[in-house]
Amino acid sequence: MRVEEIPEMAATAAKTVPVMMPYITAFFMPRQAGDRPDVVPKEAVNFAFIGQFAESKQPDCIFTIEYSTRTAMEAVYELLGVERGVPEVFNSTYDIRSLLHTLNRVRDGQGIALPGPEILRKLLMNKLDETVIGELLENAHLIAK
Ligand SMILES: Cc1cc2nc3c(=O)[nH]c(=O)nc-3n(C[C@H](O)[C@H](O)[C@H](O)COP(=O)(O)OP(=O)(O)OC[C@H]3O[C@@H](n4cnc5c(N)ncnc54)[C@H](O)[C@@H]3O)c2cc1C
Repeated sequence: MRVEEIPEMAATAAKTVPVMMPYITAFFMPRQAGDRPDVVPKEAVNFAFIGQFAESKQPDCIFTIEYSTRTAMEAVYELLGVERGVPEVFNSTYDIRSLLHTLNRVRDGQGIALPGPEILRKLLMNKLDETVIGELLENAHLIAK
């Protein structure tokens, strides 16, 4: 498509179907244990509940796509006796390794270029070398030794 074709195509070839984002309020209603059925209720052998309104065994909060996915995995593994664990929920917000890896992604995989003259950069890198901080930064591909 060429730029000159855009007005003509916008006027004749594009269809816009207006849609509304669904409300998310139901997810945040107060609840307590027992309000939602367990994914695989006690003694159930051929049915399960999946999705946001089923109670997973994982210590996860609802709302996320991951929660729904976990309930489906939990249901299949448990009912079919599959010997696989449902991926665990972990506190990635507080895990410095996850945060540094995120930083690497945010920077499009580019490492951090330390500012300043070469001699200072080398001095700093030597200081970081062999330290836990250096190892963490290197593992997250933020610096290269
Ligand atoms: C506004 C908004 C923003 C969100 N943002 C995020 C986000 O940033 N990150 C994130 O991880 N999650 C987000 N979520 C949550 C995420 O979208 C949902 O948790 C996820 O889509 C739930 O997936 P699901 O397959 O369990 O259910 P759904 O995607 O709700 O699928 C259920 C399906 O069942 C169909 N259905 C219902 N009743 C029947 C029936 N009787 N017969 C046949 N079919 C039926 C429905 O039409 C629907 O297609 C957001 C949700 C909303 C509403």
